Amino acid sequence: MSKKKIIIAGPCAAESREQVLSAATQLSSLGVDVMRAGVWKPRTKPGSFEGVGDVALEWLAEAKRLTGLPIATEVATAAHAEKALRAGVDVLWIGARTSSNPFSVQEIAEALRGHRGPVWVKNPAGSDIELWIGAVERLVRCGVEQIGLIHRGFSGYDTTSGYRNTPLWQMALEMKRRMPSLAMICDPSHICGNREGLLEVAQRAADLDFSGLMIECHPWPERALSDAEQQITPQALKQLLAEIVWRNGEGEASLCKEELETLRATIDRLDEEIFTLLAKRMEISEEIGHLKLRNNLTILQSNRWQEVVERVLTRTDSLGLGRHCVEQILEAIHIESIERQNKIMH
Ligand code: PEP
Ligand code: MN
Repeated sequence: MSKKKIIIAGPCAAESREQVLSAATQLSSLGVDVMRAGVWKPRTKPGSFEGVGDVALEWLAEAKRLTGLPIATEVATAAHAEKALRAGVDVLWIGARTSSNPFSVQEIAEALRGHRGPVWVKNPAGSDIELWIGAVERLVRCGVEQIGLIHRGFSGYDTTSGYRNTPLWQMALEMKRRMPSLAMICDPSHICGNREGLLEVAQRAADLDFSGLMIECHPWPERALSDAEQQITPQALKQLLAEIVWRNGEGEASLCKEELETLRATIDRLDEEIFTLLAKRMEISEEIGHLKLRNNLTILQSNRWQEVVERVLTRTDSLGLGRHCVEQILEAIHIESIERQNKIMH
């Protein structure tokens, strides 16, 4: 494995002293770095189990004393943050429902002013990257230094994706690009919503150079009071962690440095060609824009665009290109092209 990866695991919620101590003992023997357990659970609908509240802090403190395992919990209000820190909770995280709400994040950030311990920020439930960045900025402005990101997928109306929260990997990668100094870990449990998909999602995160994982693990998953379908036993966690292949990240590619550089030089040259061609295509599109203006033609000529798309799509197989990829590229080209003709018309 390359750089040490952080593994945070533990139950969705702390439910009883027995459950917390059992989880902690087993997780510490697996070499997990931090145990998670929700004390206050933000549930989407009323009437679900909302965590046992403050009393769980005592169980967590006891688990930490017993095993030496650092403890993490979710904070959704300033009071949660204050109570958690007072109880000796080592790692805090802001959940997806909370990171969606700037007022709540601001309140928590102020309660954590100057806090030195780690604070992880989950992506907002909806796919708004600026909100996610905003939550980080609010913490930064309050002097919180150890901030990390947790990718837990995005909720949406589409339930056909097979995920509880669709990963939208591209969005997570864009966040990594925008905030390169922050570590990002992946929470496959809340992405999948089931046990079966965990390995695939965790492996995907490992391949995308994530810094670790947060996984829900319960001594008796089928009896869990929240998220029962997605929690796994410590034994299953052990197996899962053994199966994930962590590859070497950037800076550790010395084994094949030269070969990689040669291939990348070719990629750079091809990118140059692709974008030079694209620029030429746009010039022609502008010429067409002038022609349309002179002849009072609409910018959008639906049949023509349909033809363009169909012609290119018939080539995807022989070119070995994915249909979705080609469709997205065509869409981006079309938008830019319309934009340019629009400028010419007005
Ligand atoms: C959780 O971690 O148990 C949780 C509530 O997650 P999320 O905020 O990602 O929904
Ligand atoms: Mn959960």
